[in-house]
Amino acid sequence: MANTSDPSLLLQQLFRDDLNQKFKALIETKHLYQRVKLETDRSQVPHDKNSLWAESGVLDRFDAYISRPFQLLRSDEDVDVNARQPFIVLRNMKLFCPSCKCREAFAEIYHQDITRSHNPFAEVTVKLQAPLSDSLQIFCIAYQCQICKGDPITFIIRRTKTHLSIDGRSPIEGIAVAKYIPEEERGYMEASILSHQCGMTLAAILYLRVFIEQFARRVTRLEGRTTGDELLDAYSALLVETHRAAMPSLKSCYDRLSVAIHGGVDDLEMYQDVSNLVNKHFDLRRALGTTLPVGPKS
Ligand SMILES: [Zn+2]
Repeated sequence: MANTSDPSLLLQQLFRDDLNQKFKALIETKHLYQRVKLETDRSQVPHDKNSLWAESGVLDRFDAYISRPFQLLRSDEDVDVNARQPFIVLRNMKLFCPSCKCREAFAEIYHQDITRSHNPFAEVTVKLQAPLSDSLQIFCIAYQCQICKGDPITFIIRRTKTHLSIDGRSPIEGIAVAKYIPEEERGYMEASILSHQCGMTLAAILYLRVFIEQFARRVTRLEGRTTGDELLDAYSALLVETHRAAMPSLKSCYDRLSVAIHGGVDDLEMYQDVSNLVNKHFDLRRALGTTLPVGPKS
């Protein structure tokens, strides 16, 4: 529980709790070059205390606290709530294990902050013309699957003030394409997911649209200069009406992706939504037993 008798400690604890939750979300759910923002909004502080705390220097002390280098700790046993700097406890993470082929618990086996002078890479900072900012840190952290104890997954995490991002990962994240995605167009779906995981959303959008178009072209057997709209109308006409009503519309998905491509818009939220709808469409195809191919030979 927070020590409410000391407002500085209360603010620090709120920040640390958020920091550790966001760090877990970053490792478990984010991809390369994606990031999380740490919460420093003072609205969580009761308003009547806000001005009082500002006058007594509480907020200045909090700003100083969150500007110091973050410390990495191996376990909760190393926690010192009175420490002068924020810390991240390197608890187990749920990650996809390439050997076990499922999400398993991974434990930290190695960590290093390569920007701090108290580490074996100290000569890196000594060579610099000026000291690095306290708010820039680059962590190297390795995790190992606790089931197979296989090769570790290693992350490079950058901290810039109140942002944390995944700036590197070895090995590259596995691409999990569902079995209901047709074999013939699977490569486009894999390219879309890989682009998304590397932070190239517009490329991911383009590959997903190519996936839909190539699938529709194959099953409708329409060739030549047929437009995407014509292809997807033809595909829709091939579906049994009850199936069509139950499935998300591929034409609608195609249209939304096209808008982003024509506008050059890196729309991550739209991509994730459309990606889910496309997957649902193919999952329902499998569940409803929709057979392929269904189009007349042109
Ligand atoms: Zn494993």
